[in-house]
Amino acid sequence: MEIISDPKVLQEICLSHLRGGKETALVPTMGFLHQGHVSLMELANKNAEKVIASIFVNPTQFGPDEDLEAYPRDLEKDVRTAEAAGVDILFTPKAQDLYLDNFSTWVESPVLSKPLCGRSRPVHFKGVCTVVSKLFHLAMPTCAVFGQKDWQQLAIIKHMVRDLDFPVKILGAPIFREDDGLAMSSRNRYLTEEERSMAPALNKGLRHIASLVKSGETTTRLLKEKLELFYAAHLAMATIDYIEFVHPDILEPMDEADGPTLLAVAVRLGKARLIDNIVLNP
Ligand code: AMP
Repeated sequence: MEIISDPKVLQEICLSHLRGGKETALVPTMGFLHQGHVSLMELANKNAEKVIASIFVNPTQFGPDEDLEAYPRDLEKDVRTAEAAGVDILFTPKAQDLYLDNFSTWVESPVLSKPLCGRSRPVHFKGVCTVVSKLFHLAMPTCAVFGQKDWQQLAIIKHMVRDLDFPVKILGAPIFREDDGLAMSSRNRYLTEEERSMAPALNKGLRHIASLVKSGETTTRLLKEKLELFYAAHLAMATIDYIEFVHPDILEPMDEADGPTLLAVAVRLGKARLIDNIVLNP
């Protein structure tokens, strides 16, 4: 596995892949890799001859009161994990090399960026779209893999690729979970032992609602009340940021879950902000 920090060096190598007609896959990450990231790298490997993974804690997607400085990092371990997962090139740029002095050009997808996480993280997706566009221009991949855990991010990237004609196929990878159902996340590291023991209730609540939908309850106002009660009973230490029932592609609110409906939740549990989601099928 090659480790490259210089964006221009990466671009030169990736240009030669492109000219050589190689299928390449990009997996953007912020590092502190876990099995969820590994599952993305494995999917990338199945879909391409060369896999490029990036590790970059992108400052522009963090708001002023967010955890940019505290975000967990362990590059040495990440190198071992990425290599074992079959990554060919690990791109580890420095912020000052991606954001040059007077950086002032941004990519935004404001409609899909407004609801859900966008309400409490107003600059987040502008930072994501901009850095992903830059990574696409540097790595020039034929496909790129994103996790369904960040469903809104995946929807926005698909939309951005469509709107701006990026020649990149976007693949969504299923949520990879701990045995107790908690979605893997680098931010789970922030949980205390007590918080960690409660955290699986976040996903249990989603599955509880999915079973109510299967048995015929589709009015989202009632389902939301049931989920709030469930969290009050089983996740009392958490503050709910949002519980939303939306169309899976356009992210608009749905009154009835009478077709595929994304149930997305975000909570604050101690120092961590946890997100999870499930697609409900009546
Ligand atoms: P992050 O390093 O948290 O920015 O995540 C990098 C990529 O990995 C994103 O596309 C995430 O959606 C994806 N990802 C993170 N956690 C998981 C998980 N538990 N299952 C599947 N994909 C994940």
